[in-house]
Amino acid sequence: MATHTRRRIICQCGHEGFQTLSENDSSFSRVWERYGLDEFSGNGFTITSYADMPDDILAAMKPTCPKCGETNNVRYAKGS
Ligand SMILES: [Zn+2]
Repeated sequence: MATHTRRRIICQCGHEGFQTLSENDSSFSRVWERYGLDEFSGNGFTITSYADMPDDILAAMKPTCPKCGETNNVRYAKGS
């Protein structure tokens, strides 16, 4: 089983999208987290060890805004 969550992200230009996360919800199996982007292009990636976890996941994904074309001009929206 996997749990799916998503956080709202917003570009400086106001374009909104989501960072999606699928994670293994069994504490007895190994780490498995898959990150993706909705409404932004960029790098999705899968983590199978906490040693692989980047310090700044959102920056590591290099989200590019389809509206203004900027990369890494994105932050988590308040309240998400
Ligand atoms: Zn933008």
